[in-house]
Amino acid sequence: MDARLEAVYEEALKRNPTQPEFQQAVREVMESLEPLLLSRRDYQDSAILERIIEPERQIMFRVAWQDDDNKVRVNRGYRIQFNSTLGPYKGGLRFHPSVTLSVIKFLGFEQIFKNALTGQGIGGGKGGSDFDPHGKSDDEVMRFCQAFMMELSRHIGADVDVPAGDIGVGAREIGYLFGQYKRIANRNEAGVLTGKAVGWGGSLGRTEATGYGLVMFANNMLAERGDSVEGKTAIVSGSGNVATYAIEKLHQLGGKAVSISDSGGSVYDPDGIDVDLLKLIKEVRRGRVAEYAAVRPNAEFRAGQKVWEIPADLALPCATQNEVDANDVRAMHHHGIELVAEGANMPLTPGAIEVAENSKMLFAPGKAANAGGVATSALEMQQNASLQAWPADVVEEKLEGIMEDIHSTCLTTAEELDAPGNYMVGANAAGFMKVADAMIQQGVV
Ligand code: GLU
Repeated sequence: MDARLEAVYEEALKRNPTQPEFQQAVREVMESLEPLLLSRRDYQDSAILERIIEPERQIMFRVAWQDDDNKVRVNRGYRIQFNSTLGPYKGGLRFHPSVTLSVIKFLGFEQIFKNALTGQGIGGGKGGSDFDPHGKSDDEVMRFCQAFMMELSRHIGADVDVPAGDIGVGAREIGYLFGQYKRIANRNEAGVLTGKAVGWGGSLGRTEATGYGLVMFANNMLAERGDSVEGKTAIVSGSGNVATYAIEKLHQLGGKAVSISDSGGSVYDPDGIDVDLLKLIKEVRRGRVAEYAAVRPNAEFRAGQKVWEIPADLALPCATQNEVDANDVRAMHHHGIELVAEGANMPLTPGAIEVAENSKMLFAPGKAANAGGVATSALEMQQNASLQAWPADVVEEKLEGIMEDIHSTCLTTAEELDAPGNYMVGANAAGFMKVADAMIQQGVV
């Protein structure tokens, strides 16, 4: 990178030591923005980069709760209110033992640009806890959520900061969190959280939106070559909300997903993943992918193995950050993968992205490809604000339009910056410019 950019990055390293995921996310954006940043004098003069990488507010708090044996347990809660230039902070909550300040900051940082790309009025934020919902009873999850909201409630609001789900936070957790917020605030403020159940303010289509949007985006990419996902085979990692609904949409459009995974290993199902069975095991039983393989005739459980060696046309990493390394992408290339679209946030390591680019694979960064989830959260906010509930087909049509817009914005921006076909440059630059220009208009903030 140019010396001036390196200096800003060095400063960021100094200010944020021991935050490898955050440093990685910042570096990726800075590298892909180099031509833009150097060409825009106003960005340099107003220290826009230095400001954008510094969160507006970082909240860390103790969450004390009692387990089923009345033992007192302690976790750490986070809410990073990263950037409110375009609207209230918006982004999910992640409950997973791997959560650290670095993880939440990288997620919040990416959320700024992702949310900008959706074209809706939402800023960027993220939160969560190192609490592990796996193996906890419903009562324990409820008590944890109530304790977490006890503090979080001071910092959120429909016009201030609107959390939603992420890994480990689904309909059950959002229900408990909302119930507690309502008790504390003494008001039914529907728009304070998104991802609510449909009966009390949730939007139809929000559950499906991230996975559906991902496959719509991949389809748009292939359409540029006169192709589509129809007839294509895909390897998918993960087995949560994003993976499940990506597989469902892929099957609706005539493709076939042949894998799922979790921390225990992966499943190869040559007949195509049975989505109803997957939902039963994951959503109802809260089980593991090994159980899927045990009851599905031709499926094979591969303990401790990733999915990237399985031959296919498309790869959709939908599990978590840094799950795909350079060797995985080499294996994909070897087996004929033509497109990688990130369903998770930052699933490819920097080395993996480099290999994908050098091997001329189509690559879509999560900021663009998985933006359908948060975009539909913004649709949920619109419905809540206007006391409406739209039919499912209306929401899905809007989602389709939004994904198409993001796709064309990425391509036109990349073209303008002399990086034709580079979705990463397009997504980072388009998201960045939208926020940076607005920040300049709003003064030194
Ligand atoms: N956690 C999701 C994401 O990474 C959705 C956030 C939201 O709906 O606010 O974008």
